Amino acid sequence: MRLIFLGPPGAGKGTQANVLAETCKVPHISTGDILRGAVASSTDLGMKAKGYMDRGELVPDDLILNMVGNRLDEEDTRLGWILDGFPRNVSQAKFLDVLLEQISQQYDCVVNLDVSDEVIVSRLLDRGRDDDNESVIRTRLSVYREQTAPLINFYRDRQMLVSVDGNQPVEDVTACLSKVIIY
Ligand code: AMP
Repeated sequence: MRLIFLGPPGAGKGTQANVLAETCKVPHISTGDILRGAVASSTDLGMKAKGYMDRGELVPDDLILNMVGNRLDEEDTRLGWILDGFPRNVSQAKFLDVLLEQISQQYDCVVNLDVSDEVIVSRLLDRGRDDDNESVIRTRLSVYREQTAPLINFYRDRQMLVSVDGNQPVEDVTACLSKVIIY
């Protein structure tokens, strides 16, 4: 199982990726979680990334690509993985293609969690993470629309995209996912 989760902030990517990762016994790789860990332990990467994260902007590609390359090189990713929060723009998606070719892997499917703006904002405000205040949310949404949403067509053109209605309660989204993903 090699899967990519797409969707706006607050779409429930992390929650669904966790459930699937447990079911399929593959690592859930969240670039946001890795970055928050790096910030918490004040690594070089964390210190470079923090300002961008606090503002709701994307961390520069060179930092992210290196981080993902290293993660996908780890032993536990041999039999599969679920990517959550990466790729976040077209250049990251192209990098992923090259990387996967180098390690002779291919993703099985890209899941797009489709969620309305009202649901996104109310979920993010409820979540209360440091980068979930109103002005940062606005930036994250516009970054999503400008840089990440084009990936929907990028993967649709390759016929790798499956869209799931993410406005439903968590369990219903999980049930829909289990019907559309073959594993
Ligand atoms: P997330 O937990 O996926 O919402 O990510 C939280 C923050 O980490 C984002 O707002 C970005 O600042 C940063 N981030 C996470 N993944 C990426 C990525 N693939 N590329 C650039 N920045 C990222």
